[in-house]
Amino acid sequence: MCGIVAYIGQKDAKPILLEGLKLLEYRGYDSAGVAVLTDAGVEVARAVGRVAVLEDKLEQQAKSGKAFAGTLGMAHTRWATHGGVTEINAHPHQDDQAGIAIVHNGIIENYAALRKLLEEKGHTFQTETDTEVLAMLIGELYAPSEGVDLEKAVQAALREVTGAYAIVVMCAQEPDVLVCARKGSPLIVGVGNGEYVVASDASAIVRHTTQAIPLDDYNVCRITREGFRTSDLQDEQVSPKVMQIEMDLEEIELGGFTHYMQKEIFEQPASMRNTLRGRIDHNEGKVVLGGVAGFAKELVKAKRVILTAQGTALHSAMIGEYLLEDLAKVPTECEYASEFRYRNPIIEDGTVVVAISQSGETADTLAALGEAKDRGALALGVVNAVGSTIARETDAGVYLRVGPEIGVASTKAFLGQVTVLTLISLFMGRRRFMSQVECEQLLTELERVPTKIESILAQADEIRKVTEKYVTKENWLFLGRGYNYPVAMEGALKLKEISYIHAEGMPAAEMKHGPIALITDGMPAVFIANRGAQYEKVISNIEEVRSRGGHVIAIATEGDDRIGNVAEDVIYVPDIPEPLSPLLTVVPLQLMAYYAAVARGHDVDKPRNLAKSVTVE
Ligand code: GLU
Repeated sequence: MCGIVAYIGQKDAKPILLEGLKLLEYRGYDSAGVAVLTDAGVEVARAVGRVAVLEDKLEQQAKSGKAFAGTLGMAHTRWATHGGVTEINAHPHQDDQAGIAIVHNGIIENYAALRKLLEEKGHTFQTETDTEVLAMLIGELYAPSEGVDLEKAVQAALREVTGAYAIVVMCAQEPDVLVCARKGSPLIVGVGNGEYVVASDASAIVRHTTQAIPLDDYNVCRITREGFRTSDLQDEQVSPKVMQIEMDLEEIELGGFTHYMQKEIFEQPASMRNTLRGRIDHNEGKVVLGGVAGFAKELVKAKRVILTAQGTALHSAMIGEYLLEDLAKVPTECEYASEFRYRNPIIEDGTVVVAISQSGETADTLAALGEAKDRGALALGVVNAVGSTIARETDAGVYLRVGPEIGVASTKAFLGQVTVLTLISLFMGRRRFMSQVECEQLLTELERVPTKIESILAQADEIRKVTEKYVTKENWLFLGRGYNYPVAMEGALKLKEISYIHAEGMPAAEMKHGPIALITDGMPAVFIANRGAQYEKVISNIEEVRSRGGHVIAIATEGDDRIGNVAEDVIYVPDIPEPLSPLLTVVPLQLMAYYAAVARGHDVDKPRNLAKSVTVE
């Protein structure tokens, strides 16, 4: 969670840091802070709340002569894990003797033991955070007269630490040096001309340079204006992997929409075309996936697939379970990464574990991946962020290619995940039991999906009107069967996340095993009732809700003239083979959640208590 930006170069650091923090705001945070090395030493300002509050504070300080003038500095948006959301707990943190300042993303697990040790040595702590312990430890180990400079002190401190971190450290005694390091939390070093911008992700770097080094776990990077050096915790030199950031700045700007989430919903036809681009071979009726081609044999012979994820990605995994069993005929399970990791899972020969995460940094999913790899599974990643930790730590994988997703509530990444899981199922299925003709038919249908999504988006205004009819209701149900049961779950999650309306998603049949007791007069129930094998059964479930006074909003297939007799409101989606139907049925649910949140006056892109990338377990 949270964001880090640091700068060393020739320019005034403060505006660069503040701009960087704003670009990282989408990641979610509760407080912010900045430190600049000035002629007067390290100047620090911190504030609870938005970056704008910090900016105001800096302006006030400038009036009273504290200008934060310097060309080296660091800034942070915090998402508290240890210690309350207070100004004093906000980063940067400092030590009490050496002039060390640090920003940190992650959790120092053994902070309590380290703090006790440091207190015994006479250090006094100002905050409740785990991060201050690290600042103090680096300061304690710092001994330039004995050859332990900032870089060595950081390496030594990190050798003592368990947990996850991305850190940037500076020291008043070494005014031309920034040291950064990572384990388990993302950190990228942007390499410019005589200047460096270190940040949690590329969006804060691209304005300055497109050359960047994504740090690996246990890498420490010492940066001066003249150059940088990458090492491990034992001070062995590590050769850096410089990559080109391919992120168009326009991609992360709003482009005429009011919210990122809205923009991202409307981008889905284009983003899905990008996901499919170059991956379909119509001559052979085959899927081409360069990222997993080297493991085609293992995938064909797979005895079992485990899909693991959290949140929205878990819902795409649930659809993946149906797809893989249906199209590739391989036994598949889907599991919360957080549960998989701790339940002593059985991984046999021929088990493939697929980790799904938009950011590629989801801590729970990463941990599950580690567990699966330790137990000998072939590990695949389905991620959006190129070069992210999951992408690097899996044996192979398939990127979503949907571009940066800024809205905290995931939309186009979900669609990308389901598309990729469909491609993987067809990749395996065609090599296992599926005929060329059958595969080719589905691939042709898959390529038609973006145009079909366009026709759903064209009804956005009607979907808004339907939503506004029910927006004052505090409890909603989302129901579906088969492929569309996970879509019901996703519809409910979207509504909860951004409109704060209580919503439950479940298999339509499950309703009568308990939740039916909740149905009262006027309660909205959204049914995914598109044409498919279980259509008649869904109609019966609709009747059950209606007879108890519930209001039914049905997502139905164009041309279905029966549905209007049982549902009060109907949103139509184009006809499509059932395995591909979630790619369409989810779109009206995304729009409903969006319009509900707007109608209720919420900050759609920054919902309360949520962060874009959940990098703590
Ligand atoms: N654990 C640290 C804290 O609570 C860092 C949290 C973060 O990643 O923002 O201050």
